[in-house]
Amino acid sequence: MVVTRFAPSPTGFLHMGGVRTALYSFLFARKHKGTFALRIEDTDKARNKDEWTQALVSDLDWLGLKHDVYVVQSDRLSNHQSVIKKLIDSGQAYISKEKDVKEGQRDEVIRFKNPNKKVTFTDLIRGDITVDTTDLGDFVIARSMEEPVYHLAVVVDDFEMGITHIIRAEEHISNTPRHILIQEAIGAPRPLYAHLPLVLADDRSKLSKRKHGEKVSLTYYRSEGYLPEAIINFMALTGWNPGTDQEMFSLDELIETFDLAKVQKAGGIFNVKKLKWFNKQYISKMSLEEFKKIAAPFVSNVNEKLWPLLKERTTILSELKDLSEFDFLDKKPQYSKEKLNWKEKPGNKALLEETKTLVESVTDFTKENVKSTLWPLAEKEGKGEVLWPLRIALSGKDKSPDPFILCELLGKEESISRINHAISLL
Ligand code: GLU
Repeated sequence: MVVTRFAPSPTGFLHMGGVRTALYSFLFARKHKGTFALRIEDTDKARNKDEWTQALVSDLDWLGLKHDVYVVQSDRLSNHQSVIKKLIDSGQAYISKEKDVKEGQRDEVIRFKNPNKKVTFTDLIRGDITVDTTDLGDFVIARSMEEPVYHLAVVVDDFEMGITHIIRAEEHISNTPRHILIQEAIGAPRPLYAHLPLVLADDRSKLSKRKHGEKVSLTYYRSEGYLPEAIINFMALTGWNPGTDQEMFSLDELIETFDLAKVQKAGGIFNVKKLKWFNKQYISKMSLEEFKKIAAPFVSNVNEKLWPLLKERTTILSELKDLSEFDFLDKKPQYSKEKLNWKEKPGNKALLEETKTLVESVTDFTKENVKSTLWPLAEKEGKGEVLWPLRIALSGKDKSPDPFILCELLGKEESISRINHAISLL
């Protein structure tokens, strides 16, 4: 029976590296029909905040990484204390009077009596790792009976929660020998370890808050309008690949395919372009109704006709915050006569009239039909000559969707009326 856990410390927003750790722990548990636990590691009282805990829970929920078990580490203090007592009673830990602590700090800590031995463990990603623990000395396991430190709490909790596989960031490799010594002292079985490689930025530096600011946290991607499906798919492939060409994976497909043995040893590159590509794929896969629903928090007052176009063009939802380029839809464009000139050539009234006649002949007023009707004229007279004045007539803007799309958006009557206005200027 597999039991995994994700054990974040609530000291800040969820880092994208943390998202991947949570995801791999979740996938591994689900794949083996096991249990996925979320444990909030709040032993560092000075740095924890309740709001971070709430944000973590909300973020994981939004991603769809549902936990089966929820544990708050500080609720387990009495369990930690009884283990510390046992260790002291059996002589495997001792209260140490510290001489050179700074003024005002406690002068007693509890240290683990290091048996000073070599520890070898098998990491599922990296293979065998051997460490001589002598260098670690008698390390601290609690600052007082009330304050167990991370090393003690993590071992006691993993043991008592029945964790079978510890999947966590590679920065914890150096902690593992300490954890193994404590496990051996308390008679806990050794779980299997898988230390995940770093998540690296595009420039191969470690993705860090100091260097990359808000772009390391899930909150940023959530607020920019990335979809959970895209983030999950992308993070799954940052450091793991299925060994096939398949790129699009739903969470269920990931559960089926994911394999810890295929997690790479080298750092995974966080390629934002690729993440955007995934986001676009997921947007294009959804129905228009679904898109409207997820876009709603990002937009206000959208002209109903715009939706299909927006869905087609959107990469991340925050792009929808500024729809000013479409303001021509609801108000007649204002432009000078010169704007109708294609390059140096003065506006060609006869050609625009011919264009209008063709536009008038289109009955089913779709962009495809407008295009196929106008195309021969554009090929004959020049694309710029025909399509530029049409674009200006319809939108008044140099940059807008192509004039066929503009026709469809405006509808036949309004398109003709705008073309007439342009003709009257020439
Ligand atoms: N609480 C630790 C952290 O936030 C993780 C501990 C673990 O996974 O063993 O880095």
